[in-house]
Amino acid sequence: MQITVVGAGKSGVSAALLAKKLGHSVFLTEKGNLEKFSSAVSVLIEHSIDYEFDGHSDGVLSNTDLLVVSPGVPPTSDLLRSAEIRRIPIISELEFASQQISNPIVAITGTNGKTTTTALIHHLFETAGVPSIACGNIGVPLSQLVYEGLDEKTWLIIETSSYQLDRIQTFSPKIATILNMTEDHLSYHGTMEAYIKAKHRIYEHQQRNSEYIYNFDDSTTVPSETIQSNVGSFSMQIEPEFGMFGDEEKLYFTENGSRIHCILRSELGLPGIHNCYNSMAAALIARKAGISISKIAKGLQTFQGVEHRLELVRTRNGVRYVNDSKATNVDSTKYALTSYEAPIIWIAGGRGDNNKYDMLTTDITKNVRTIVAIGEESDAIASHFSTFDVKQCTSLEKAVNYASSIANDGDVVLFSPACKSFDMFDNYEHRGTVYKLIVNAL
Ligand code: ADP
Repeated sequence: MQITVVGAGKSGVSAALLAKKLGHSVFLTEKGNLEKFSSAVSVLIEHSIDYEFDGHSDGVLSNTDLLVVSPGVPPTSDLLRSAEIRRIPIISELEFASQQISNPIVAITGTNGKTTTTALIHHLFETAGVPSIACGNIGVPLSQLVYEGLDEKTWLIIETSSYQLDRIQTFSPKIATILNMTEDHLSYHGTMEAYIKAKHRIYEHQQRNSEYIYNFDDSTTVPSETIQSNVGSFSMQIEPEFGMFGDEEKLYFTENGSRIHCILRSELGLPGIHNCYNSMAAALIARKAGISISKIAKGLQTFQGVEHRLELVRTRNGVRYVNDSKATNVDSTKYALTSYEAPIIWIAGGRGDNNKYDMLTTDITKNVRTIVAIGEESDAIASHFSTFDVKQCTSLEKAVNYASSIANDGDVVLFSPACKSFDMFDNYEHRGTVYKLIVNAL
């Protein structure tokens, strides 16, 4: 078969290698500039895979039997449009890789909390001695694992984006969850309906013996009536018949209406109500995979979190410095601001994306003592929060220095930008790393 792979990022290159290993003729096409992809090019040359950069040539589809697309290639791409017109099948890298394996799969999607929950599930499985690998958006494309070879008993804990789910045909996770959904990535999907629809494809091909886990408190995650799989849910508002429930103090499993204690909230490794949701989703998934409640509780206690997500960088003079650079939208920051009882000096800003700060009501900002605003959104933040003590700074370094100059013993300096990073940094990882360097140099 002649396979054309679109995109030369990690997923595209891994898919090309896998396709080649499976004996197909492979061509990789990338819109971006060659210079940006030097390591990809060396891999392609080493494996004798033909490629083109700087745009898709006119004839690229002429012999193509199958198009495998990397996440991030927008559905509006001219290349995808032409392939659709020619009726060339288009599948995502996730679909392509998953077609080659029969491993049990846990698939996690949602707007926020995917990486944290994926890492947490992996940790729960590891704690219980169940072989598993975390992959997908979390850093290792599934194609890479399939290319390298997998033991078919290993559970694959896959963080999946709506981009990957948009182009599946058979992808059938044993256990799937949608954690939550708020407006994000609308520039890719066009409308909220299209975004919701893409995410709900996660259970479309599930079999009767599979499980779909949803967030009872977020109606956008409720499955359609045609769902084939067994359904469970988690909530902090209403006790589900089958699932998990969290009150002020504890998290419980609920089975047939009866409660089974899992863990005290104060024992959880991660702070904040959002992490109660992530913990319930993960615990319920682990339970469905047959892990005992005592092992789940142990894993929930010992989980250390993921870098750049409410990451405690340092405590200096009694002040906790927290890096939440991954909070690239207001919704994530909303949860961060409610995660601490202590007074907060909140550093925010960056590149806005039609940010709706109204979401941050007085209830949410009640512990905020001072706001330090940076980046392109600095003025918007200063004007929206004009009743607060706001200081505008021209760099992250100045912001951290200012925050540390006014912080008292017991305060939290919380860097939770609520914005994208691209006005000043390469990406949120770069932004978080710079924050940590500045904090550690204080
Ligand atoms: P994703 O992989 O979906 O982007 P992450 O686990 O990387 O999610 O977390 C991204 C940000 O969202 C973090 O800043 C975190 O504080 C916040 N967050 C994590 N879980 C949730 C949740 N369940 N609901 C809302 N926000 C969350």
